[in-house]
Amino acid sequence: MLLLGGTGEARRLALALTEAGGFDVVYSLAGRVREPRVPPSCRVRIGGFGGPAGLAEHLRCERIDAVVDATHPFAARMTASAATAAAATGVPLLVLRRPGWLAQPGDDWRRVPSLPALTDLIDRFVPLRRGAATDPGPRVFLTTGRSDLALFAGLHRPWFLARCVEPPTGPLPPRLEVILDRGPFDVAGETALLRRHAIDVLVTKDSGGAMTAAKLTAARDLGLPVLMIDRPPPPSGFPVVSDIAPATRWLTDLATSRHAGAGSVAGAVTARTPPVP
Ligand code: NAP
Repeated sequence: MLLLGGTGEARRLALALTEAGGFDVVYSLAGRVREPRVPPSCRVRIGGFGGPAGLAEHLRCERIDAVVDATHPFAARMTASAATAAAATGVPLLVLRRPGWLAQPGDDWRRVPSLPALTDLIDRFVPLRRGAATDPGPRVFLTTGRSDLALFAGLHRPWFLARCVEPPTGPLPPRLEVILDRGPFDVAGETALLRRHAIDVLVTKDSGGAMTAAKLTAARDLGLPVLMIDRPPPPSGFPVVSDIAPATRWLTDLATSRHAGAGSVAGAVTARTPPVP
C-alpha cells in the first residue's frame, strides 16, 4: 500500500500496520523538510509524483493495491491528486484526517474561510491592547508555515513573528522575525513566547491534533484573539476516517477481501472496497 504521509498520524498508522503484519507499506513524503520524521519500519520514497497523471502511473507501475492519504489537512493539492488518480485507476483510497480544533469557553476565535481572505483581515486588524499612536500595526504570531509567508509580503503595517520548521524563501513581509522550531510545544513555552513578543493576535490553520494545540490554550489564558483558518473539505466520494484504528480495520478488510477474491488483484480489490467500520 502507498501511505501519503508527512503527519504524526501517518507515522502512527505505519507503525500499527507493521505491528499488525502482512502489509507492504511505502511511506511517501513531499521532500519539504531536510530531516523528516519517518516511521522506522517501512520503505520511504521522497518527492512529488508529477500531478494526478504521474501518481496514476505510479499506482499502476508499482502495482499498488490501496492508498491512504494521511497528509496534512491543508495539503489540498496532494489530496486532490490522490482522489483523481484513485478514480482513474480504481485503486481504493482512504482519507485519514485528524479532527479539527473546537473552541472552548474563553476562546476568542474568528473563523477565516481561506488563507487569501486572511491577508485583508490582518492588514485591517486593530490591536486592542496598544494605542495606534505608539505602533502602526498589530503584532501577529503566524503559525501557518513558511510556504504561506509570501501571501503577507505586501503588508507593511503589521509586525510578524513566524514559526517554521525550515527557513522561509521567496517574498517575505518587510516586518518579520522568524523562529525555526517544530512541535510538540507546551503551554508554558507558548505563553512565554506570546508574552515576550507582545503578540496581539495568533494566526493558525485549523490543523487539529495535540502537537501544536498548546498555543490555543496560551492565547485563551492571555485573552488573545485567534484567527483560525478553515480547512479545505475532504474529497467527495471516498471514505474518510479520523483515527488510526478504523484506518487499520479498513486496510485489513481490504486485504481479506483481496485474498478471498478471484480474478485480477486490482479488479477484486476495487469491487470489494469495504465500507469504513
Ligand atoms: P500540497 O500543496 O498539497 O502538495 C504540493 C505537491 O507536493 C503535491 O502536488 C505533490 O506533488 C507533492 N506532495 C505533497 N505531499 C506529498 C507526499 N506525501 N508524497 C509525495 N508527494 C507529495 O502539500 P503541502 O502543503 O506542500 O504539504 C507537503 C507535505 O508536508 C505533505 O506531506 C503534508 O502532509 C506535509 N505538511 C503540510 C503542512 C501544511 O500546512 N500544508 C503542515 C505539516 C505537514 P506532485 O503533484 O508532483 O505529486
